[in-house]
Amino acid sequence: MFTVVLPVHGGAASVRALDGEDERAVDAVDTRTAIALLQRVVTGPDPARLAAADRDRLLAAVYTSTWGRDIESVECCDACGKRFDLRFSIDNLAAALDLDRPAAAERQPDGTYRTPHGSVFRLPAFDDEIGLTSPSELLARCVVHRDASDDDDALEAAMEAVAPLIDLNVDAACPECGHAQQIRFNIQSYVLGRLVQERHRLLSEIHALVCSNAPRRRR
Ligand SMILES: [Zn+2]
Repeated sequence: MFTVVLPVHGGAASVRALDGEDERAVDAVDTRTAIALLQRVVTGPDPARLAAADRDRLLAAVYTSTWGRDIESVECCDACGKRFDLRFSIDNLAAALDLDRPAAAERQPDGTYRTPHGSVFRLPAFDDEIGLTSPSELLARCVVHRDASDDDDALEAAMEAVAPLIDLNVDAACPECGHAQQIRFNIQSYVLGRLVQERHRLLSEIHALVCSNAPRRRR
């Protein structure tokens, strides 16, 4: 069991390691699948009611409790085109998010946030995110009071700043040619993508086993 502090919701939740059944239940990398997975393994507030920033921290704990702290991926160099292994610690990502956090809005006792201009917003949960067709629709749902000085961009930036997602650029250098580049890392796509990949690998192994054990047809 891992205990995770929820920066937006407040308090904490516990996350257990994935078992085979949890792993087999994941067949996509979308938010609905992420929430279904979290609902199986999290003890605490309902993940569907949490902001994306809290869900990302829970997904990071799912990763750590199941596979450890190292993130590994294979990337392609922009300059020489060769593939290389990228490895970094999930702890460093979380620490970077906390350090970069500017005071874009102040948290109010009721859980809403107030910008320096006086606009007030709440952070969206999954219920707000489903069925949206544009970012301005999300703002319409989540902005409680808008000061004329805060345009859509300013409010979106404030929302992102008070609740940063584990969706950021990671510095990487190609071991072949030394070219430096940034790799986008998104915890939800990474964790769910890994599970989908493992599920495909397992299915093809089972398929291969079934085929090799199948009785040969007589001629
Ligand atoms: Zn290279």
